[in-house]
Amino acid sequence: MNNKNLCDFDNEISDLIEKELERQRTHIELIASENFVSKAVLEAQGSILTNKYAEGYPGKRYYGGCENVDVIESIAIERLCKLFDVKFANVQPHSGASANLAAYNSVLMPGDKILGMSLDAGGHLTHGYSVNFSGKIYQAFNYGLKDDGFIDYDKVEEIAMAELPNLIVAGASAYPRIIDFKRFREIADKVSEKAGRKCFFMVDMAHIAGLVAAGLHPNPCQYADIVTSTTHKTLRGPRGGIILTNDELLAKKINSSVFPGCQGGPLMHVIAAKAVAFKEALDDSFKVYATQVVKNCAALADEMKKLGYSLVSGGTDNHLILVDIFGSVGISGKKAENILHSVNITANKNAIPNDTQKPTITSGLRLGTAAITTRGFNEEETRMVARFIDKALRNKDNEEVLNQVREEVISLMAKHPYL
Ligand SMILES: *Cc1c(COP(=O)(O)O)cnc(C)c1O
Repeated sequence: MNNKNLCDFDNEISDLIEKELERQRTHIELIASENFVSKAVLEAQGSILTNKYAEGYPGKRYYGGCENVDVIESIAIERLCKLFDVKFANVQPHSGASANLAAYNSVLMPGDKILGMSLDAGGHLTHGYSVNFSGKIYQAFNYGLKDDGFIDYDKVEEIAMAELPNLIVAGASAYPRIIDFKRFREIADKVSEKAGRKCFFMVDMAHIAGLVAAGLHPNPCQYADIVTSTTHKTLRGPRGGIILTNDELLAKKINSSVFPGCQGGPLMHVIAAKAVAFKEALDDSFKVYATQVVKNCAALADEMKKLGYSLVSGGTDNHLILVDIFGSVGISGKKAENILHSVNITANKNAIPNDTQKPTITSGLRLGTAAITTRGFNEEETRMVARFIDKALRNKDNEEVLNQVREEVISLMAKHPYL
């Protein structure tokens, strides 16, 4: 076996990892779905647990030698249940998309109807987008936002009562406001009554899980039949997925849907890293972190508005804002993304309601504060970020000013080291 360290054996990959570390250290990360994990999470994920096959569940594996990974997975489940005050959890989904696939597959048959938020309104591909499995296996309907940028709950009810979906999904990738889970539950119950069969209500809290864990967003577990999430966004764990429920029968269906329904062997190294991240999230310090994420986002929203930018829904309740960048300064989302990249600020273009630009161009820019808050930014530094963005966009053709902004970004990041 090759016994060399990575840098001695494979310089090419090792150099690129070093370069990526340097990029992460020197850029302001505003992608709302990204974060920086702790050393402990990295250590668990990079561990020898990657060697172990463990198809099945703790105590019921298809392979021998699972005595240690059984305990690891049980600890992960126990911590996760405590974190979200829920009875049952599956920690095996490889990602958020895999969690959604397994969740749908646990209660739906091909051809069943699902109702989710449309992609251009801020929903996710897996909520019924045409090219995604969710739009192919199931008959998908979607809802959007009112002109004010808030979810159009009346429209959700109208579509639901007309189409009688088998499952309604709430949750989004680019929605800056609190989601009214109770209202969705009531709509699903009305559908169940009218249809004479169950309409399931699922919440995909991928983006907001960290805020929910810290009590800064209502917890969907008391309203939804099934809750799915990623573990790597505001929850600040390794890249992965989870599924939660309070219903014992559903929990069994979910387990068999994940394995053997949708996946083979679980990623035990990732599950160990999830357990570590859940331990971090259970600590009081995580509440301090998540509170600062929301405060920073409010400061970002306020400063952007002061600088003359309009925000979808007029502001934010969570960790992200959606800026109507085209409507504010006549620069498309795509162009803004590129300009910001040139000054070491990473963000992504995003469609806004009634977008006049193509989906590959867009009018919006999505900005999140989860990652910079992990790096220790306070509100004043977050306001500085807004001013950097404004200065770069308004001087997009002035190389000298752009260079100056990049230098300021680099010196700010130097005050907030990573690893
Ligand atoms: C990010 C996200 C996902 C998918 O997560 P992956 O791990 O990238 O598969 C699913 N749903 C929502 C709402 C998301 O924001």
